[in-house]
Amino acid sequence: MADNVIAVRDVSKSFAGVHALKRVNLEIKPGEIHCLAGENGSGKSTLIKVISGVYTPDEGTIEFGGVPYSKVTPIEAIMNGVQVIYQDFSVFPNLTVMENLALNTELADKRKLVNWRRFRQIAEQAVAQINFQVDLDAKVGTLSVADKQLVAISRALMHDAKLIIMDEPTTALTKKEVDALFRIILDLKARGIATLFVSHKLEEVFEISERFTIIRNGEVVADCLPSELDRKKFSFFMTGREFEESHFTGVASTEPPVLEAVGLGLTGGFSDVSFALHRGEILGITGLLGSGRTELALTLFGAYTADAGELKVKDKTVHLKGVRSAIEAGIGYVPEDRLTEGLFLERSIADNIVISEIDDLTGFLGSMNAGRQRAEAGHWVDALKIATPNPDNAANTLSGGNQQRIVLAKWLATKPDILILNGPTVGVDIGSKHDIHQTLQKLAGEGMGIIIITDDIPEVLQNCNRVLLMRGGRIEAEIDPATTTEAELADLISREATEVAL
Ligand code: ADP
Ligand code: MG
Repeated sequence: MADNVIAVRDVSKSFAGVHALKRVNLEIKPGEIHCLAGENGSGKSTLIKVISGVYTPDEGTIEFGGVPYSKVTPIEAIMNGVQVIYQDFSVFPNLTVMENLALNTELADKRKLVNWRRFRQIAEQAVAQINFQVDLDAKVGTLSVADKQLVAISRALMHDAKLIIMDEPTTALTKKEVDALFRIILDLKARGIATLFVSHKLEEVFEISERFTIIRNGEVVADCLPSELDRKKFSFFMTGREFEESHFTGVASTEPPVLEAVGLGLTGGFSDVSFALHRGEILGITGLLGSGRTELALTLFGAYTADAGELKVKDKTVHLKGVRSAIEAGIGYVPEDRLTEGLFLERSIADNIVISEIDDLTGFLGSMNAGRQRAEAGHWVDALKIATPNPDNAANTLSGGNQQRIVLAKWLATKPDILILNGPTVGVDIGSKHDIHQTLQKLAGEGMGIIIITDDIPEVLQNCNRVLLMRGGRIEAEIDPATTTEAELADLISREATEVAL
């Protein structure tokens, strides 16, 4: 059937006893926007690597334009129009945009002398294909994530691509950048170029996908149209679990607040911020990027020092001077970007939980003996259901969802009274997301005061008993999740966007 760009037929692949793929079938038509969904560890990357010739399947065939191959080399995949954009984009940060774009082509042409005029021409053509406005002489390392991705897409299109595979392309993008990416994907479609993208963000995936393949434990469990799916079915196919969408109500506390901000301000970040957080509460803070929410989070954690107002912890005024004093005051902070702020990827899971920077900061965990450290790490691995055969394995052996659980465990090990989480489930699979939410609700139930900073609307409404809406560095409104729908909150946030634009 040559009307497919690619067909995967009954492909199986094992790694030392792990059946990563079991008789997987997948067909992609020219120009089709196809979503490959599945939880972490379900086999998505393995399937991509089989298609792109990185792995040889144990069984089954890959067809390009109707021609079956039982083994594909990376060069054959490229010759058949397959291009993969990996999560790290495989760009060279120290080289310019022009060099990144021209390098492969020049190397492929085996030109010995660098011809800068030709370099520039090649690069100009490449970015023009997607109307990407960029300084060709800028070092790629200085570009935003979205622009790095566009460099990778431009580069992929230089090779006469028929199918662009994107591994979780939206993870680090803002809503606006996602919209821009979707316009490019639609434009590619108009030119007959198919896109296979990996995602587990249902809201986004629905907007653009024409067909879904969902895999679980290496098996295709659904091959369907968007009209055949809704949030509940999608979650079920992904996880094999049925989820109750329960709302957290919290406990009305008569005690004094555990954390209180009175007229708190940070020049250039936010001003006049006042709120109280009680034990047992999960307080949501939402707003657009640039609303001051991240600056507020970092100030509450002592990474920035407020220059106006007062912050009280358990009714005592505190002057947070750095992260260490926040930790000493009983505040934990789960950062937005676990990969750069939260984890030492090469160190073991256990080390990340108990012997991380925290002990250097506070000293108290550092004085634990090795046995107690192991026990502590083991406790959190169990409590947060971190899926690892051995806590001594490096953190980078785990999926994103499990890495996020480590970051959470690391802070819970400091026994904070107050836990602040910034985007706690960004890039995390549905099952982990659900488990993280359950954990937070349980911790609040045990008396912790929790603040979640997020722009994930279902997350904020399901898990918080109160929500503060920020705009232009101020708290604009307090919202009651019990009486606010997702559409209403989305509307409130986007109405803000219009007002800001005016
Ligand atoms: P996903 O991309 O959906 O998160 P992967 O394809 O990376 O999933 O992994 C599927 C399964 O195969 C996992 O259990 C993973 O641990 C295993 N696996 C993947 N690559 C290898 C490898 N090179 N060696 C051993 N096991 C692997
Ligand atoms: Mg993967």
